[in-house]
Amino acid sequence: MPHIIKSPVPAGEVRAARADVADRVRTILDDIRESGDEAVRRYSEKFDDWSPESFLLGPEEIERIVSGVPDTVLDDIRFVQRQVRTFAEAQRDTLRDVEIETLPGVHLGHRHIPVAGAGAYVPGGRYPLTASAHMTIVTAKVAGVPRVAACTPPIRGEIPAATVAAMHLAGADEIYLLGGVQAVAALAIGTESIGRVPLIAGPGNAYVAEAKRQLFGEVGIDLFAGPTEILVVADEHADPFVAAVDLLSQAEHGPDSPAVLVTTSEAVGRAVQRHVERLLPTMPTRDYAGPAWRDHGEIVVADSLDEAFRIADSYACEHVEILTENPRRALDRMRDYGALFLGEGTCVSYGDKVIGTNHVLPTRGAARYTGGLWVGKYLKTVTYQEVTDTASSALLGEVCGRASRVELFEGHARSGDVRSAKYGKGTLPW
Ligand code: NAD
Repeated sequence: MPHIIKSPVPAGEVRAARADVADRVRTILDDIRESGDEAVRRYSEKFDDWSPESFLLGPEEIERIVSGVPDTVLDDIRFVQRQVRTFAEAQRDTLRDVEIETLPGVHLGHRHIPVAGAGAYVPGGRYPLTASAHMTIVTAKVAGVPRVAACTPPIRGEIPAATVAAMHLAGADEIYLLGGVQAVAALAIGTESIGRVPLIAGPGNAYVAEAKRQLFGEVGIDLFAGPTEILVVADEHADPFVAAVDLLSQAEHGPDSPAVLVTTSEAVGRAVQRHVERLLPTMPTRDYAGPAWRDHGEIVVADSLDEAFRIADSYACEHVEILTENPRRALDRMRDYGALFLGEGTCVSYGDKVIGTNHVLPTRGAARYTGGLWVGKYLKTVTYQEVTDTASSALLGEVCGRASRVELFEGHARSGDVRSAKYGKGTLPW
């Protein structure tokens, strides 16, 4: 039986906070639906102290902003975008159009068609999340999306220059300085000044994620990618200092970010807890990481590594770091996670910032049914069929007639009857 060294706040408190966010988002969406640009501007002013003449950046403005970004920052942006692009292209190349012949002259196929337009949400409330520009926009462009409308909020009234540069270098077709629910709503519903898109991708805080969830159906979404989560699986070989540093690397995202350690060693668990408590006050971001660890930090001691993997799976966590003697074992043992980080040589921060796998990943248990953002999320896999052999069409018509009548669909049956009569020996029974 696993035992707990540190537990989080009760689940009821978390549920109440989520219900409150859902109510607030609903109100904002209704308002924007009703009043369009006027409401978008009102909320931007209220939450981000931002109400420019236009939220859309023009080409000269973009050029001016990009020219003020230091060369080293631009070089690093290009480096990371290459990593992301290379991996995304390799993933895209695994996708083949399919066409097979199941019977003589019966051709069935599928094709992958990019959506006509995508909204790329790049978060920026607390930190300028420059890397999310690479993840959302580069990937959309590799998928072949012709129109990418990217949004990011100003940070405390300031333009996030490096993020704008990353959006531009990634190939965004439109860049809006607009954030939060109002940005997602404008992209999904459309306003007088912002054209709607068929799909919105990108991570965000609880409000942004909830807005995407509520708008789903009216607009496509990539996945539920809310406040970030980390889970570390550690055995007795793990370095507790590294585990503690990595847990805090994600806790600093915000006060609602869970950080969980599942370990087979009570000694490692206690050591990680000591390191976390000691490191927290040294972090400039302790105002976020501190409450995150206090309210959502957990340490669980498992009896065996297999049990540790089972517990880790039950969280269906966004990021899972494996700090064990043989980290690749997790690939066979685990099923529910957004991304795995195998061994001490890598870490969630590499995934977040530089390594090239996509950092837009499922949260709040969504990893039970989806992986993270990738080119496939921007593509629609659509099918087609053709029958060029009359005997096969007649055969299908006979079966279609019988199968449809079992379901009491006389109209469907007649479509089959017509073909079996026309191309085969059958006669119309009606
Ligand atoms: P954000 O851009 O997601 O949100 C900022 C916006 O929130 C602001 O523009 C503001 O309009 C809105 N807002 C703030 N307070 C509000 C309120 N009371 N009511 C309504 N709207 C409000 O930026 P952020 O806040 O820094 O959050 C970024 C989030 O993205 C973090 O939680 C981080 O963990 C998460 N993230 C997730 C992933 C993933 O793949 N799951 C990846 C990266 C980041």
